[in-house]
Amino acid sequence: MARPGPHHIHCIDPRTGAEAGDVACTSLADIPALATRARMAQRSWAALSLAQRKKVVEAWKHTILARAGEVAALLVAEIGKPAAEAWSSEILTAGELFDGWLANIDDLLSPQPVELNPLNYPGKEVVVSAQPRGLIGMIMPWNYPFHLPLRTMVPALLAGNAVIWKPSEHAARVGALLGEIAASVLPADLLITVQGDGEQGVAVIDAGVDRVVFTGSVATGRKVALRAAALGVECSLELGSKDAAIVLKDAPLERTVNGLVWGAFHNAGQDCAAVERVYVERPLYEAFLQKVVETTKSLQPGVDIGPLITLAARSRVEQRIHDAVKAGATLHCGGVPWGEGFGLMPAVLSGVPEDSALMVEETFGPVMPILPFDREEEVVERVNSSPFGLCASVWTKDHRRGLALLDRLDVGSTFLNNCCFTGPMAMAAWSGRRHSGSGVTGSRWSLDGLTMPHTRVIDRSGAAKEMWWYPYTDAFTGMARGLVELGRRGGGKLQGIRLVLSGLLGRWKRSQ
Ligand code: NAD
Repeated sequence: MARPGPHHIHCIDPRTGAEAGDVACTSLADIPALATRARMAQRSWAALSLAQRKKVVEAWKHTILARAGEVAALLVAEIGKPAAEAWSSEILTAGELFDGWLANIDDLLSPQPVELNPLNYPGKEVVVSAQPRGLIGMIMPWNYPFHLPLRTMVPALLAGNAVIWKPSEHAARVGALLGEIAASVLPADLLITVQGDGEQGVAVIDAGVDRVVFTGSVATGRKVALRAAALGVECSLELGSKDAAIVLKDAPLERTVNGLVWGAFHNAGQDCAAVERVYVERPLYEAFLQKVVETTKSLQPGVDIGPLITLAARSRVEQRIHDAVKAGATLHCGGVPWGEGFGLMPAVLSGVPEDSALMVEETFGPVMPILPFDREEEVVERVNSSPFGLCASVWTKDHRRGLALLDRLDVGSTFLNNCCFTGPMAMAAWSGRRHSGSGVTGSRWSLDGLTMPHTRVIDRSGAAKEMWWYPYTDAFTGMARGLVELGRRGGGKLQGIRLVLSGLLGRWKRSQ
């Protein structure tokens, strides 16, 4: 984590609050030239076959895995992640991400032939293929600083694009390592890393990129979208959320508690898909609350839960808890600092007013508010009334009831008896609704943002003229009418056939 200075990012270890070295910011004046270099590199990269690009990308994956220990150590030192999370939710997921794209990219990018009626379009072939957009500009957050940029970089490069990207100023060293590993394997300038804060972010948008991919907060996302729109550049946004869990009265207690305690507190709650609201059907409410508190108290700071990224982030979360308690909530555990750095013990609250900031705005910290509900209608309304809509989960042994409930939740991803974990998957779509953003990461849908469709027509008919070219003839009009007649429900089939045949005869005569 870090405070950006004019020319350097001053890194601070969130576990101790101590200085942890500087990273040089990229000069704003240099960014347009870097983008030009990336654009030049993209041309030769796109000219390679997909098989050749895959070979390079596979080598990139193996270089990452060979240096996994170094990456994990830096994730622990810079972000304060527990080692288990650095290895599982950043490095293991990164490897799987590469595998998923490498296994599926041929199918996903394969040209799609368009089916044509040979009577209307004799001798013609139409094929739609995906072409790279060109230069993708990425602006990234700090909370998953390794696997999250790769979610876009891997498919973007496989599809033939170049990338210019900016890691968060709070994850500058992980960003530098990711960029350095990529540069050691990829062709020169194909993936350019820019260091800095919002100023450098703006410069990336302004550098003439073909698409902006932004992941971060709603407030910054809106600025980015406005800037990109002013330049006529398309932009995808992956933003924050306020994800809810619905626990039904027959939920398997132990699994549900374990799942939601992890869902709320992994990455110290600093996850766009962290469970930030839990609604429990009244008959299970007391038992659930008690077991969550007991389980939460057993978490070990530094082993199970890391610190928050900055002192300011911790103070904001503490303030939210304080305000909720002042408004009548009960704090059952946590909410107090731990360690020398920016740690906060995971907090469980009940009785939090539904309109308090803790229930409405993204907390992005280790806090779980738990509220009871009586009727399904009411809980669906409470979940869907959030301006955010990334993920939601339902926990129950009754899968039919659970699935029916999931279908009513207006969010991008839903989970039955689980939560949060599909974000890094190459072939699962990750996308939000409303304030959670407009982008898609993962799956074939994400390729829409990284490629452009290109339609190619090849005519092998050799005829001197198409029927629809000048001069217009009665035979052509008759044939068009006949084809409409044949396609019309209840149309005159005999008349249609007669008109088409006389049109074909006319065409044949003219071609003699
Ligand atoms: P942030 O918005 O503060 O910063 C994100 C990036 O934007 C950083 O690199 C920052 O330097 C840059 N930036 C800042 N001002 C800019 C400007 N004016 N123009 C261009 N770039 C600018 O977010 P953060 O604190 O790094 O990340 C946390 C947020 O990200 C949370 O809200 C979280 O929910 C969200 N997030 C969403 C997803 C998702 O997939 N939906 C994933 C991870 C994080």
